[in-house]
Amino acid sequence: MSEARSAPEPVNNAPEPVNEAPARFSNEQAPRNWPTTMMFALTTLAAVVGVPWYGLAHGFHASSWVWFGVLLVANGMAITCGYHRLFAHSTYDAHPLLRLAYVLFGAMALQNSVLKWSADHRVHHRYIDDPDRDPYCAKRGFWFSHIGWMLRNYPSGNSDMSTVRDLQRDPVVAWQHRHYLAIALAMNIGLPLVIGWITGDIAGMLMLAGVLRLVLSHHFTFFINSLAHMWGGQPYTDENTARDNFVLAFFTHGEGYHNFHHMFAHDYRNGVRAWQWDPSKWFIRAMNGVGLARNLKRVPWFRIQRALLDAQFRRAERQRARHTGRAQIEQLRKRVAEEYDAFCKAVTTWTDLREQLAQAKRAVAERWEHSTIQMRLRELEYELRFQHRRMRLLQAQLD
Ligand SMILES: [Zn+2]
Ligand SMILES: [Zn+2]
Repeated sequence: MSEARSAPEPVNNAPEPVNEAPARFSNEQAPRNWPTTMMFALTTLAAVVGVPWYGLAHGFHASSWVWFGVLLVANGMAITCGYHRLFAHSTYDAHPLLRLAYVLFGAMALQNSVLKWSADHRVHHRYIDDPDRDPYCAKRGFWFSHIGWMLRNYPSGNSDMSTVRDLQRDPVVAWQHRHYLAIALAMNIGLPLVIGWITGDIAGMLMLAGVLRLVLSHHFTFFINSLAHMWGGQPYTDENTARDNFVLAFFTHGEGYHNFHHMFAHDYRNGVRAWQWDPSKWFIRAMNGVGLARNLKRVPWFRIQRALLDAQFRRAERQRARHTGRAQIEQLRKRVAEEYDAFCKAVTTWTDLREQLAQAKRAVAERWEHSTIQMRLRELEYELRFQHRRMRLLQAQLD
């Protein structure tokens, strides 16, 4: 069973940046970032032209396809579970061995060091949708937020390293930052070479597990900055561009539930519902099960319900002219708020009773005392189910 504790209040741990607002952005004035542009151009060309040509001319071993899949998933998970949820948002603690795996396979995804990636990402959360400060602001268009922000040295892309002081103290992260280029090259070229040598398909392995894996891994992650801010629903908040999108979640190991994530960035889950496709949360939970991850942070369920209700109120208010009068909406809002308060109080009592029961068990108290508390708990749970159903009915009227 996963160990969990309530998350603290702040949404992220990025302190205020030191710099004042940079100059207004201009796509033309920013100088070209040639190394990054060339890297993207060459790897894309190799993936689009080189890989199909090689496949048609020579064919690929099945093992090269298998390793392509394995490394694609390993890169993706190192970015989502490691770079994003562990390092950038500190949503749990991880054993050094797990952190080492994250920095190795994260460097293989070629998205810069943990420090640089996390600095940019913390600023993205803090200044979301601000075209001058959000490094991959979706309001500057699909191309810019997807890849364009890396192709030129925009003022908004200057990483504020003062936001990652906590990570600089982590020896594994610091080691990766110091030797980033060597690690990235060893993982991208050295590893496929060695595996290809073992399986007897060196060139095929370099094509599939090297090039094609890298290019696909890049774009799956980049979709989170572009499409996940443009396409999908906004069940938790409409105060920013982030969206929840199942299709993106499927390709990005759960990161597509981006609306929830921007609302509750300190939760280790992105797909918060049990049925939502979020292999990253399952992996983190599994690591917790084997003792490599602990202190998994979760937003209390009631706060999530509150956010859902608030978002529904706002939607209902926008539609009130069409469907119902303002007075009715106000009345409905009051009833839901009352139900919600009663529900929260009942749950607090329930939590207290559970604690009392645990204490009574520890103190080896009288048997009757156990059963009295257990009976009250059962009654309360019965009542809670009814309260929840009433809230759902009221919510349905708001939609
Ligand atoms: Zn985002
Ligand atoms: Zn994030």
